[in-house]
Amino acid sequence: MEKILKAEGLTRAFENKGERFLAVRDVSFSLYRGEALGIVGESGSGKSTLVRMLTGLLAPTKGKIEFLSRDLTHAGSKEWRKCYREMQLVFQLPKESFDSGKTLGSGIGESLRNSGMKRKEVREKVAELLSTCGLTPDFAERYPGEVSGGECQRAAIARALAVEPSLLICDEATSALDVTVQKQILELLLRLKNEKKLSFLFISHDLALVQAFCDRVLVMYQGEIVEEGKTEYVISRPKEVYTRQLIDSVL
Ligand code: ADP
Ligand code: MG
Repeated sequence: MEKILKAEGLTRAFENKGERFLAVRDVSFSLYRGEALGIVGESGSGKSTLVRMLTGLLAPTKGKIEFLSRDLTHAGSKEWRKCYREMQLVFQLPKESFDSGKTLGSGIGESLRNSGMKRKEVREKVAELLSTCGLTPDFAERYPGEVSGGECQRAAIARALAVEPSLLICDEATSALDVTVQKQILELLLRLKNEKKLSFLFISHDLALVQAFCDRVLVMYQGEIVEEGKTEYVISRPKEVYTRQLIDSVL
């Protein structure tokens, strides 16, 4: 299987009231094409810090990042920008990731326009992306303030898909939504995973969501991976006390 993303010994230090601490400590893993890898852990366990390093938004203190066989450990912003054609992010608060003064269609079509696509083609492609994500074409004309949280997250996923990435990184992408809407978004992600052979890094504090979506899971605690394996095994036979507690608290 093709290795999409590889982290080796990733570590990030921060200062807190003059004291240095490691928000992420020696994290290593690989993600393969078509696989959904979950990263689960309580709030503050270092998940978002890890994501920010993996997406070039934060420099690692130590460790190595490889994406599609390219070493990105010391990549500058220009190299990272090239990677965003293959790696896209979906965040927790979709409304904040769209410009409130522009239509959703404008946001979804931005990368297409930038790549030189003609206006008419952009319009058609945006309609197609909206449809893939379960929205009607008229959503292109709406503003972020005129749609629900779930609809806006669908639009954010449509925007991420516009560049036809290999990897979608979802950081608590359903955490701000109602339970029923969470399920619908998860169904959409599952469909994309199966139809498009997309790889996912699915970060959540909610083990039930990870269980429903991920092939494999890493459990983080205080910046470290304390357990990893196939999701079904980790959940049915956790080796670590912490994982057990996490399971008992949510399932
Ligand atoms: P999670 O996403 O799992 O909730 P985070 O990665 O956001 O966890 O945070 C991990 C730890 O690192 C927390 O203690 C948080 O307060 C700290 N942290 C995150 N970003 C910074 C920063 N820029 N400066 C200092 N501390 C930070
Ligand atoms: Mg977080």
